[in-house]
Amino acid sequence: MSIVYIVSAPSGSGKSTLVNELFKVVSHLDFSISYTTRPPRGSEQNGKEYFFVTKEEFEAMIAAGEFLEYANVFGNYYGTARRFLKQAEASGNDLLLDIDVQGAAQIKKKIPDAVTIFILPPGREQLEWRLRNRGLDSEAVIRRRLDTARREIENYSKYDYILVNDRLEQATDELKAIVLAERIQCSGRKPSAEEGRLLTTAEQFHLEQARERVQPILVSFEQGR
Ligand code: ADP
Ligand code: 5GP
Repeated sequence: MSIVYIVSAPSGSGKSTLVNELFKVVSHLDFSISYTTRPPRGSEQNGKEYFFVTKEEFEAMIAAGEFLEYANVFGNYYGTARRFLKQAEASGNDLLLDIDVQGAAQIKKKIPDAVTIFILPPGREQLEWRLRNRGLDSEAVIRRRLDTARREIENYSKYDYILVNDRLEQATDELKAIVLAERIQCSGRKPSAEEGRLLTTAEQFHLEQARERVQPILVSFEQGR
């Protein structure tokens, strides 16, 4: 059985950047390329970051039962095609889904063993800076994303692991530790000394251990309203 990893984060937290870095350092991991009705942004390519389809095409896929889950995010459809899970299972790889809070909840119902990871920005100010610096959104969209972020962050306690994307290199190492630790646990074998260290690193990001770290971030979003 493949391990399904679900990564969610408020838009602009650096999730795509972090996931790209993860794929450079972890093998046997497939990325589930979602379908969306939103237009491509910046240098995005069809079939790489997303499959970009029309509303009619998306609705035909819903009718044909092709989605494991789908949701309406910021006024556009986004969905996870069932075929990615089948392909990962056939090739013996694990699968990573980059989906929003609603999608994560839907998958968790269908695949209770899915490992859920919530990525947080270090604070509201940094998120705002990253959204502006990315240079892809209008002022109105940035405002909406910041407001949505506050509501999304409130869902953090539904996730298994919480990671703060402060320094990219460190956050990549931490995400890698979580992925590898879950593989070790899933294998059921006795961990080596090195694997034991990985398990200890990953443990720090378990929800219960992360609550204290999350608190000031939540406060920064409340104060910025
Ligand atoms: P998301 O996928 O969460 O919407 P992106 O990966 O597009 O976010 O990142 C948003 C912006 O923040 C990008 O300009 C990216 O280069 C930058 N960024 C990502 N991670 C970090 C980090 N750890 N520190 C500073 N900037 C970052
Ligand atoms: P963006 O437009 O910034 O790429 O993504 C907006 C949001 O949609 C992000 O939170 C992203 O994780 C989410 N998303 C991307 N693909 C899917 C999907 O297949 N299903 C769901 N539910 N959300 C998705």
